[in-house]
Amino acid sequence: MKTVSSLLDKDWQARYKRIATLNIRSSIYDVTNRCNLRCKGCFFFSSGEHEVTEEMDIRKWENFIDKEKERGVNLAILIGGEPTLCMDRIEAFYKRLPSYCATNGLIKIPREKFPDLMVGISLWGGSADEKVLRGRDTFAISSKNYAGDPCTYYLYTITPRQVGKIEPVIKRIADVGLKVHLQLLSNDEGVDGFSWHKSELKDLRREMDEMLDKYPQTVISSKYYHEVITTGKMMGRSFGWKECPSVTESLDNRKPPTRRLIHFSRWAADLQTVHRCCTSATRDCSTCKDGAAHMSWIMVNKREHLRSTKDLQNWIEVYEMFAKLYRFIPW
Ligand code: SF4
Ligand code: SF4
Repeated sequence: MKTVSSLLDKDWQARYKRIATLNIRSSIYDVTNRCNLRCKGCFFFSSGEHEVTEEMDIRKWENFIDKEKERGVNLAILIGGEPTLCMDRIEAFYKRLPSYCATNGLIKIPREKFPDLMVGISLWGGSADEKVLRGRDTFAISSKNYAGDPCTYYLYTITPRQVGKIEPVIKRIADVGLKVHLQLLSNDEGVDGFSWHKSELKDLRREMDEMLDKYPQTVISSKYYHEVITTGKMMGRSFGWKECPSVTESLDNRKPPTRRLIHFSRWAADLQTVHRCCTSATRDCSTCKDGAAHMSWIMVNKREHLRSTKDLQNWIEVYEMFAKLYRFIPW
């Protein structure tokens, strides 16, 4: 096997060193079962992951988070439901752990209280798609709430209907001074016209690459990530249940064991139940397009990328992208 130093020049070695020491240990928390939207294709509601009794006592949340910290978690990814419906719980995490909050952006997180909390706003396309899938044009509100915010980006879930049309969405985001990360819809509720065909994915990969070239200050991404997420292939292997790194540790009974996120768990809002993985508990893994799971898949497989300089550089770029998205390194 080749070594890192034999494959990289000085600049790339410095980039490698910057991320090699991060040692990210993430877990995901459903902050609440409630949401102020009901998007078609929302994995949380479509898989029944909200059907637990939500813990309402803030002291129990605080004790739970303290234990998570003791367990070695150093990145709390807050999802839901809509976390901003429970600011006290966000605060409990924020005071104890580096935290990231996924939100639909309709409610503004007060920056006086959470000056550097990383915020990812979900966006499901342009106004027309958002109205079909989410019942309203959320961008119109979220962009007013967060314009120019240095710790916020859009998590743009691209649908098959968006292929060939993503530039206006990226431009809108650039125009309000925010960043964007791209991922793909998995269509968990089988909405007509929103499932992927191979040719669309091919076209989309090209389009994502073009957007990265054209808007490098706005799009937080890498071409290798585009390749892996649109093809579902990495180093000749196929993404799916056997390979997925984002499975809750206590539920992971795969044999042989696969490379995975260390101590990763996805907790329900009752603080007792764990869900299978970072996304829908009922999703068919062979159709899963989850962006974070694909990124993590690359990241936990560093050894495979010690094959050539280009492979290792690809791996570094994906790791850097992840570290930027969760505020471990600057944009
Ligand atoms: S905003 Fe998020 S949690 Fe709420 S319904 Fe939509 S996808 Fe689900
Ligand atoms: S649905 Fe996706 S993230 Fe969940 S276990 Fe399957 S492949 Fe992994």
